[in-house]
Amino acid sequence: MSDPSTGSERSLADSFRRLIAATGPISLAQFMGESNARYYASRDPLGAEGDFITAPEISQMFGELIGLWLADLWIRAGRPDYPLYVELGPGRGTLARDALRAMKRYGLEPEVHLVEASTELKRLQLEAVPQARFHTDLSTVPMDGPVLMVANEFFDALPVRQLAKTADGWREVMVGTDAAGAFVQVAGRQPMDAAVPEPRRGADLGTVLETCPAAAAIVFEAAGRLVEQGGAALVIDYGHAEPRSGSTLQAVRAHRKVDPLAAPGEADLTAHVDFATLADVARSRGAKWLGTVPQGAWLRALGIEARAEALARFAPQHRDALMRAVERLTGDGQMGLLFKVMGLTGPEWPEGIGF
Ligand code: SAH
Repeated sequence: MSDPSTGSERSLADSFRRLIAATGPISLAQFMGESNARYYASRDPLGAEGDFITAPEISQMFGELIGLWLADLWIRAGRPDYPLYVELGPGRGTLARDALRAMKRYGLEPEVHLVEASTELKRLQLEAVPQARFHTDLSTVPMDGPVLMVANEFFDALPVRQLAKTADGWREVMVGTDAAGAFVQVAGRQPMDAAVPEPRRGADLGTVLETCPAAAAIVFEAAGRLVEQGGAALVIDYGHAEPRSGSTLQAVRAHRKVDPLAAPGEADLTAHVDFATLADVARSRGAKWLGTVPQGAWLRALGIEARAEALARFAPQHRDALMRAVERLTGDGQMGLLFKVMGLTGPEWPEGIGF
């Protein structure tokens, strides 16, 4: 059993244990969804002091280049009226603040709509972007005006469903408890063969298929907005551009990988984003898919090296830190290859830089 260090962890682990004792194993998706809701509700997990660090927290250049990309597209689309900046899971609000500052230099001052579930993070976001309005999902974001949408490390936090090929056929991966009360993976009782696409049903024993229904649903809705209202979206996350099999679930606490089942609500649970599926969903709704490219190549195409040089000339004492930030964001062994940038636009919108 894990060592529950705080009351909130005890209560989420305990309520899972009670639920499992009463009704049997719960789905991995439910375990992940409720764990992350608890995890983000109560803390700011970002930065050196927290559990993990994200691109906008590494350097202001990241948000600025995203703002520049959106402004460039908006200008070439003919500067349509009443633009809306919409960000999903904005963390500390750093990316929004940096992107909005860059957009303003090009005469783009959109209304700001943030989709965030965590009370603690909303408070930080409002400090960074005082004019922001908050939403719990996309449904309440205004319907008039083009949407300029950004999601960085948001989709990886959404719950995944896993199906595993067992000796008894395909079963959903569930979470139960062992004799000592520790959480363990178990196979669901219901046959799930019908949920597996026909060509993959014959896969080897032990094969795991992971899907993220919540991510597909959000991209479906976002793409619908791009088609109806015009605009563009950038989805940035770690993941794979081609379909794959296997579990990618992992947990990070204090910058280290830990057992994802050990302490629900106390570690950040993530899974790789399946960009190929999200691109299919967006196209099926009529949005234009610009491409899915490695973050390093995309940032270089937007001129991150020149931007770092310009900032270093202005503040030579920060030159080394700026060059290190460029390397972290773009280096092959760092975030440059593992992280991908997917671009989407409305059907009539121009092509974007870097795809
Ligand atoms: N984009 C930020 C933060 C990434 S962490 C950055 O790059 O630094 C994930 C963010 O998504 C947090 O803000 C978290 O509270 C939010 N989030 C996670 N699941 C969510 C959900 N289901 N609905 C809304 N926000 C969610």
